[in-house]
Amino acid sequence: MTERLVAEPGPNESSELTTEPVYRVLYDGQCEICQACVAWLRTLDTRNQTASLPISADVLASIDSRLELSLCLRQLHVVTPEGEILVGWDAVACLARLFPSTWLIGALGSVFPFRALGRLGYGFVAANRYSLSKCRGGACLVAKPEAVRRQVGLGAFWSCYTLGFLIRLPLVLWAGITAARQRFSVFARTHNQRFDLLNGKLTILFLNGALPNTVPLLFGELFTTVLYDGVAIDPGSPKMRRSLTRHLRRLKPKITKVVATHAHEEHVGNLNWLSDLTGAPIYLSEMTAQFLTPFKKLPWVRAIIIGQPPNLNPPFEILRDSITTSSGRLAVIATPGHCDDHIVLYDPEEKVLLAGDAFMGSYFATPNPDVDSHKWLTSLERLAELDIEILVEGHGHIHTIRKEIPDFPGVVIRQDPKIAIMEKLDYLRWLRQQIEAGFREQLPVRVIEATCFPWGKRSSWESCATDECIRFLSLGHFSRTELVRSFVRPSAEPLPTVYEVRLYRGE
Ligand SMILES: [Zn+2]
Repeated sequence: MTERLVAEPGPNESSELTTEPVYRVLYDGQCEICQACVAWLRTLDTRNQTASLPISADVLASIDSRLELSLCLRQLHVVTPEGEILVGWDAVACLARLFPSTWLIGALGSVFPFRALGRLGYGFVAANRYSLSKCRGGACLVAKPEAVRRQVGLGAFWSCYTLGFLIRLPLVLWAGITAARQRFSVFARTHNQRFDLLNGKLTILFLNGALPNTVPLLFGELFTTVLYDGVAIDPGSPKMRRSLTRHLRRLKPKITKVVATHAHEEHVGNLNWLSDLTGAPIYLSEMTAQFLTPFKKLPWVRAIIIGQPPNLNPPFEILRDSITTSSGRLAVIATPGHCDDHIVLYDPEEKVLLAGDAFMGSYFATPNPDVDSHKWLTSLERLAELDIEILVEGHGHIHTIRKEIPDFPGVVIRQDPKIAIMEKLDYLRWLRQQIEAGFREQLPVRVIEATCFPWGKRSSWESCATDECIRFLSLGHFSRTELVRSFVRPSAEPLPTVYEVRLYRGE
């Protein structure tokens, strides 16, 4: 296992070394407090006047031979563009003077008596930083983490983690507000809309409903039905039926088959209804069909918001390796992970992957209780081998760099699907390593969860407000804790259906 649990390059870090002369800020990449301060610095530094570099012997040697590792670990060092080395409070004051919003603090902090007070306060924090940071979430460089873990109780871990959170709290809240604004904008632009692509071969119908609308507004997941060359995929829940009816009346599509990618309620509630309406037969995987007859009772929150799907009625067909469309065929690929019965549809001619929920963004931290991340990893590895140019998610996002797909901010993501899948794989592999290490060390689940979301990782604090909001509103059904549990599902155990499975606390 690796000891470098939290240090991770920020988005603009790689370019920082190559830009114009800047103030080089040397920080302890393993310390929560230092990382939190760097997060602030990056937010304030809109003109890229600083470069934050985690301390290592190599980095110090490459910057200035006067820099000493042990001294740099003790307090903040800043090297100015002129080559001057500022230390401790003087370095803080110098950085503060760079930005309009903190200029006054920096200017006052450079003169008596504030300079003396600043040095005193800084000295106290710097001296006590290690005692707070002796934890797995921010294993200090000063001691071997193995030894530290034996000596220190979890109190130090939590005080360190909490402090990291509190220092970033305004950033967390601001990121939460920004994300909410973006969700509202996408919701307004997709409300009962449709998106026609590939000369009408691919159409995304955005589904709405009074109560289902809370999901895109609060969580950012849009509800969709995908029409692909005559095949209707995932026709929504009963509470979205009016929205679907309106689309069908306007578009009058020729539907020849109705398919569900998996048995989650927002995908399967209108299968029989749409089949009866259009005369098109239903196609499902064997396991999905099993899960739908009868459909298990949903937890009440989900039943109220999305709607309890009716049981599946025959006739229906079982999906084999492929399914014919109006002008070709789609390969059917089993992709367990998001849930055991998941399948995706792939058009090798057009290089389109209709992924359902088998791909939900590269970063997705609030799964539901039926996610099995080990299986998901294997499925994503399989998808990574396909030649994909357009990846259509089940909840409204399209990853592509193909020019003929028009821009649709918040829906079309200009990213190579292959790279998106690889990023997701990297993220899941890193999580697996964190979680396995945590269980090996017999850490409590809560602590393991926290180590999977170190504040030094930008996505941890940026999505924190949204993730916790999802946890609260779903009564814990979708949460960061489930992400940890998704790695500890014993694979031998058969899972009749997801909703019945509440995990094993892992202790
Ligand atoms: Zn799902």
